[in-house]
Amino acid sequence: MSPVPDSSLALPSAADEVETSLYEVRRQIYPRAVSGCFAGWRVALVVATQLVFYGLPWLTWNDRQAVLFDLVSRKFHIFGLVLWPQDFIFLTVLLIISAYSLFLFTTIAGRLWCGYACPQTVYTEMFMWIERRIEGDRMQRMRLDQSALSARKFGLKTLKHGLWIAAALWTGFTFVGYFTPIKVLGGEVATWTLGPWETFWILFYGFATYGNAGWMREQVCKYMCPYARFQSVMFDSDTLVITYDAQRGDPRGSRGRTADPKALGLGDCVDCNICVQVCPTGIDIRKGLQYECIGCAACIDGCNQVMDKMGYARGLIRYSTENAVSGKYTDSEIRRHVLRPRVLVYSALLGIIIIAFFGGLLLRSPLKVDVLRDRGAMMRDAPGGQIENVYRLQFINSDEAVRRYVVTVDGLPGLQVMAPQPIELPPATTRAFPVAIRVDPAGLGAGSHVIVFHISDLDRPEVQAHEKSRFFVR
Ligand code: SF4
Ligand code: SF4
Repeated sequence: MSPVPDSSLALPSAADEVETSLYEVRRQIYPRAVSGCFAGWRVALVVATQLVFYGLPWLTWNDRQAVLFDLVSRKFHIFGLVLWPQDFIFLTVLLIISAYSLFLFTTIAGRLWCGYACPQTVYTEMFMWIERRIEGDRMQRMRLDQSALSARKFGLKTLKHGLWIAAALWTGFTFVGYFTPIKVLGGEVATWTLGPWETFWILFYGFATYGNAGWMREQVCKYMCPYARFQSVMFDSDTLVITYDAQRGDPRGSRGRTADPKALGLGDCVDCNICVQVCPTGIDIRKGLQYECIGCAACIDGCNQVMDKMGYARGLIRYSTENAVSGKYTDSEIRRHVLRPRVLVYSALLGIIIIAFFGGLLLRSPLKVDVLRDRGAMMRDAPGGQIENVYRLQFINSDEAVRRYVVTVDGLPGLQVMAPQPIELPPATTRAFPVAIRVDPAGLGAGSHVIVFHISDLDRPEVQAHEKSRFFVR
């Protein structure tokens, strides 16, 4: 008897093959302008973050730029604080604090960062604002794009792109101004004497801003941003997300303002599509939470305006949680569940790290000293039968004032420091000084002996540094 062929193991024929394109053609999105509570928050955050970004490099502190990441001198100035490469730990901790804050906010209320403060959102908002001022709102922009090229269209597009490029270049200039004193940079731009690296970074950062905020927009969030991919692991059923209340809204349908939806068998959604038209990523939140949703809450504002016009209660689209939507929690229970174990753990960790960060900054000594032995000679004879070893003391004065230091040394009887004292250092400076140490070798065993350098600030004796080294005796 011949075996019965297993159809599941059969190879597909050419007719069964279906070709699927992995490339999705971009659909142009024309977000409609919206006003409301959340739009107000977004504008406030755009203004606040950009005032800080564009304004900070122009502030002066102690006769120099208040915030300057001076890579050439390898020191970061942040108002009165000077960070050296040795202080890299503080920058690392700052990054950890930022990451934990992001985790915490995401756990509590989803993509708050994406919707309100991410540079991609902020610059897209700015560029869209320019676009609306020049080309008009959604319908006007759609009509303009569909129309044939005319002098008016050419003029509007040229003006828009000209302003976008100007904003992008100013952004690039400001960015570089955090690394090169911005007033010097401004002078170099005015006199066409910019260096190659500054030119490159201004153009690169400007081009990235123009491309991402003017052209790519939601594509960056959908396809390029890694955070959009992994943030869902921080969500749980008590995370606040933007939600359409299907129980209240469905069945959807248009109706007159005075009509009774119940009599028509309808829910509160009038199917006006405003929530889709205002969405910067062009999605329909009524289909449920989608990864493209950046949590900007524009659909909440748009829908609330519709609800107001219809005389219905606001909140058909609102911040809610999965548990609340499935009917498990009331509004007060939602608020109570914000303080769940995961949030408490993130908050506690964040609190500990922030305290450690500021504690470390406060306790950080403004004086650092490295002692290096002179590699040229282990030991040499000195007048009066003494012997001497030579060292190089590398000082870092992190203070914003001139400091005077005194060096003493112990570990062997009769050690003498042969260097002009006090040693003076200008503000926020690192400098090396040769220091010879002499001793009478009588009674000292041959070999290497541990000695300790003590360096103290002449005007603030509590500021001290202690460094071990070795003294060689023949
Ligand atoms: S669905 Fe709503 S919250 Fe999400 S991106 Fe669109 S408008 Fe913003
Ligand atoms: S804006 Fe509100 S009423 Fe209009 S379609 Fe969206 S959910 Fe329905």
